[in-house]
Amino acid sequence: MPSVVHAAGNCSVCMESFGKIPEETARRVSCGHVYHHNCITGWLLNGNGNSCPLCRREISGRLMI
Ligand SMILES: [Zn+2]
Ligand SMILES: [Zn+2]
Repeated sequence: MPSVVHAAGNCSVCMESFGKIPEETARRVSCGHVYHHNCITGWLLNGNGNSCPLCRREISGRLMI
């Protein structure tokens, strides 16, 4: 099991792999991390401000949803 998986690995919100989802379901945020569209949208709407779940960097601007 790889110790660190970035971007192409798992969604850090739900821990699901990206391997089985269509590309348009994934969303890359400004820091470069990738999440499911629904997951990052829910995360941001859930009172987490606009910080990346993984690195806590601010996601610049608004997500292009
Ligand atoms: Zn997810
Ligand atoms: Zn990030």
